[in-house]
Parts: sequence; C-alpha cells; structure tokens
Amino acid sequence: MTKILDGKVLAEKIKLELKAKTLELKKNKNITPGLALLLVGDNPASQVYVNMKAKTCENLGYFSIIKKLPKETQEYEVLNLINQWNNAENIHGILVQLPLPKHINEQKVIESILPKKDVDGFHPINVGKMLIGIPCLLPCTPAGIMELFKYYNVELNGKHAVVLGRSNIVGKPIAALMLQKNKYANATVTICHSNTKNLKEFTLEADILVVAMGNPEFIKSDMVKDGSVIIDVGTNRIDDPKLEKGYRLCGDVDYNDVFDKVSMITPSPGGVGPMTIAMLMNNTYKAAIGQYE
Ligand code: NAP
Repeated sequence: MTKILDGKVLAEKIKLELKAKTLELKKNKNITPGLALLLVGDNPASQVYVNMKAKTCENLGYFSIIKKLPKETQEYEVLNLINQWNNAENIHGILVQLPLPKHINEQKVIESILPKKDVDGFHPINVGKMLIGIPCLLPCTPAGIMELFKYYNVELNGKHAVVLGRSNIVGKPIAALMLQKNKYANATVTICHSNTKNLKEFTLEADILVVAMGNPEFIKSDMVKDGSVIIDVGTNRIDDPKLEKGYRLCGDVDYNDVFDKVSMITPSPGGVGPMTIAMLMNNTYKAAIGQYE
C-alpha cells in the first residue's frame, strides 16, 4: 500500500501548535510575532502568495504588515524600507516576495535583511550556518520537507537520496539538510540538474527522490525505483480544456503513473506547498523568541 505524505494535515497541526504557543508568548512575555511582507510590482501569483501569508499570520494571532510598491520602485527605496523594518521592534521577520523587478538586485536586497529576521532563510549567513549544521532560520520549503520526513517516519539514514534540481531555494538546501550528520538525515546525496547525463540511471537508484524542476509530470514510473519515497516539490499549472477553469495544477511527478510502484509520495498540490507556509510561520515564531533550534 502506497502511503500519501499529506502536507495539508501536518501543516494544520504545526499551525495549531504555533497558535497555542503564540497565545502563551503574548500572555507570558507580551511578545506578538510580527512579519513584514514586501511586494514590488503587480505579479498576480505573487499577490496571491503575499495575501495568503498575511492571512495565515492573522489566523495564528501574529501581527503582519504588507507593503505593496509599484514596479518602478527604485532599489534604494526597497533598501530603505528594509532598514526601517530591521530596526522595528514589532517586526521579527521580513519577507521580500520574489521575483523582484529586473532593475533591483535581488541578492543585494536579501543581504540587506538582518539574518535574525531573514525568515525565508536566504541570507548567506543563514545559508552558511545551515550547511555547517548550526541552528538558524532554514529555508521554508526544504525545512518543510524535513518535517514531512520526521512526521511520517521516513528513514534517511544510509539511504541514497537523489535531488532533481539545484536551485538555491530548494535543490541545494534540501540536499544539504539530508546530508547533515544527525539522526533525521545521514543520507548519501546526489544532486542532478539539466546537464546531468543519463538522468534515469540516477533516479532509478534513488531510495528517496526529491524532484524540484518545474517540469510538469516529468517523472514517470519507468524512472523510479520500486518502493522508493517520492517528494514532489513541483507546482505547475497546465491547460486542461475539460475543466471549467481551463487548467489544473500538477507536480513534476506523474502521480498516477508512479503511485503503485512507490512506497510513499507527496501529492502536488497538497504536499510540500502547505508545509512551506507552515515553516514560514514557524520561522517567524522562532525569530520572535530569538531561538533557532
Ligand atoms: P528553478 O530555480 O527553475 O530550478 C529548476 C532546477 O531543475 C534547475 O536546477 C534545473 O537545472 C533543473 N532542471 C530543469 N529541467 C531539467 C531537466 N529536464 N533535467 C534535469 N534537471 C532539470 O526551480 P525551483 O525554484 O527550484 O522550483 C522547482 C519547482 O518547484 C517549480 O515547479 C516551483 O514552482 C516549485 N516550488 C514549489 C514550492 C512549494 O512551496 N511547493 C517552493 C519552491 C518551488 P539547471 O540548474 O541546470 O538549470
């Protein structure tokens, strides 16, 4: 029987726990976790993401502010705003919704956020600490995948984990986390990308396959090992004239095709996605209490 690694269920559980801890934090220490969200430009998907994050803050009893700036905003204006938030006592986390308009240097903006308020976990200080294995604010999507492994008792120790994709926000950090020398990790990790030769040879060797490519339903049953664990990070929209809305969402893995062959799998949507937002809330809480364990 294939087990579904349900991210919605786990994300709800984590958010409920955070809500209860937030009540205690307010009562005992008079601290309300605060998240500042910046959106530059009018990308519709980014607007949906930012509003969803603010709504989740509201549900958990956090304080949040959304600053929406026009796409012509200059880099120095963004840096000034971040500087204000860096110095604001009621703001514990700062999130700049990416991508930014091309004339703004994303890396410079990321590096302007104080590492202790970098709830996306993208600042080089946090990336470096993650790699070394020092407690820090972890990037949300990979942290969410590690939580799924823990909750569903997916053993990584000594297993061959193959990551498909080497982005800074998913591929590289999830590879680093699975490689760590601790009881929840300890995997042997291979990273593949678009220049990898004979990709199928690697995916067929994977006890755990993490797919983050942005390529709809790319992974088919002939590419996965019997009994493997599949984490599908991909979130793609594909045309489907049969549906009223004209499209459907799917992952990078052909879920129905691989389902009977694998032992565990995340659906997409409903797997890694909900965990990402739960981890953002977790990071904001950690930033508010100043503890990153
Ligand atoms: P990205 O920055 O575009 O990286 C994609 C990676 O996949 C690259 O490393 C690329 O290789 C590799 N790749 C693409 N096509 C390939 C192929 N045919 N064979 C081998 N490797 C290939 O994407 P990302 O930001 O990591 O996101 C990946 C997917 O995850 C997207 O669908 C995105 O929407 C989704 N995502 C979901 C969440 C969530 O919370 N659920 C969060 C983040 C991302 P090169 O490096 O050689 O180009």
